[in-house]
Amino acid sequence: MGSVVEENLEREVEELRETFRSGKTKCVNWRRSQLKAILTLLSDKEEEIFKALYKDLGKPHCEAYRDEIGVLVKTLNIALASLKHWVASKKAKLPVAAFPSTAEIKPEPLGLILIFSTWNFPFGLAFEPLIGAIAAGNTVVLKPSELAPTCSSLLATAIPMYLDSKAIKVVEGGVMVAEGLLEMKWDKIFFTGSPRVGRIVMSAAVKHLTPVTLELGGKCPAVIDSLPRSWDRKVAIKRIIAGKYGTCGGQACIGIDYILVHEEFAPTLIELLKTWIKRMYGENPRDSMTRIINKERFLRLKNLLKDPAVCNSIIHGGSLDEANLYIEPTILLNPPLEAEIMNDEIFGPLLPIITLKKIEDSIEFINLRPKPLAIYVFTNDNTLKRRMMNETSSGNLAFNDAVIQYACDTIPFGGVGQSGFGRYHGKFSFDTFSHEKGVVSKSFLTEFWFRFPPWTANKLQL
Ligand code: NAD
Repeated sequence: MGSVVEENLEREVEELRETFRSGKTKCVNWRRSQLKAILTLLSDKEEEIFKALYKDLGKPHCEAYRDEIGVLVKTLNIALASLKHWVASKKAKLPVAAFPSTAEIKPEPLGLILIFSTWNFPFGLAFEPLIGAIAAGNTVVLKPSELAPTCSSLLATAIPMYLDSKAIKVVEGGVMVAEGLLEMKWDKIFFTGSPRVGRIVMSAAVKHLTPVTLELGGKCPAVIDSLPRSWDRKVAIKRIIAGKYGTCGGQACIGIDYILVHEEFAPTLIELLKTWIKRMYGENPRDSMTRIINKERFLRLKNLLKDPAVCNSIIHGGSLDEANLYIEPTILLNPPLEAEIMNDEIFGPLLPIITLKKIEDSIEFINLRPKPLAIYVFTNDNTLKRRMMNETSSGNLAFNDAVIQYACDTIPFGGVGQSGFGRYHGKFSFDTFSHEKGVVSKSFLTEFWFRFPPWTANKLQL
């Protein structure tokens, strides 16, 4: 980063620190006003948001509303309705030895927060943590991803128009800006992105002992049991297709990466998938699918199919339009397990199906690989459900649906192992950006004389 940019940034960060020291952001009315201002921003700028998402990603209107506005409006309404309860101290019990006294757990803001967001949900993944940071009473620097430049620029112009710019700032830029930010001291870094950059963030945080939340990616499997009822199959297939192709064109951290299915049910599943892809996306899926973000990421996906053994496993789709960065919804049957497509997060509309001799083998299959951000299990078998719950580990686990956990504020959202650590959404976001201060308050009324020296023999006998 150039020194003028560096100086400006340092000045801006100092201003945020001053604002925090002033106590302004701790005021519940201030927090409320900022959350309401985000609601207004989303409403006033809705059309511009749709246009930016279309320009950067070709995101269809309905998908854009669902993922980047609807979910946020819900989050904001929950935060506004719950704020009074969240900020209140909670009473705590104390041991008899502390009598007479009272205790409480008081949430306090951490201070100055750095948020990195990604390009696949440029508004959703910027505002969702920002809402938590504001609700908890912090000041914030938001660094959107440079890979969705129109969205990044809209965030940088709209946020200062609606929010308190002495407390919340947007810093645009690429790797160099990110590196510059990481050299500075923060009270918390909230990072959404790849495990590769997550490691860089964590190493930088060590220098200042800064706590981090890492919302990373991974390969989320969907385990499909042989659902006997045709209705259940129909519902499941729609949810699977939406959980793969219908969430940013497969470019979603919680999107289905690959399917595990019993070998006898595989032909039925494949036929259903082919039929329903056509029904849901029509003859020309590109009209209702998000495209690949840029040429580099497109070529990465193209390369995943280069291996002849992988290419030969394509049983549906497979056409690539480089000029328009579009890849047809594609299904692969049993690509080699050692191929890159089965080891790297796919992040695109390519869906490998792996057949197993027994559906229960999916447990070992999953456990031999890094812990995913989510596991999806489509089954009516309670024994399989229980085993999945008890014998696998993942950030989230969903039965009979995919991606839905993102919108469920009462459960924590976040990874485990290689898919990250820390959690947010709903009250968990508030907690992520707060310190729970334990406070004990004693009376002068009585004292236990044996607590203090001199350590005389009669005290030892007690
Ligand atoms: P990325 O890690 O390349 O980029 C994320 C952020 O890091 C961007 O703001 C970028 O500017 C910054 N960055 C990039 N290189 C950097 C470097 N060398 N030093 C410092 N900062 C750097 O992520 P991406 O590829 O843009 O996004 C896709 C990844 O994000 C996938 O792995 C996906 O699973 C993950 N993701 C996770 C979640 C979640 O909630 N867990 C949500 C969306 C995406």
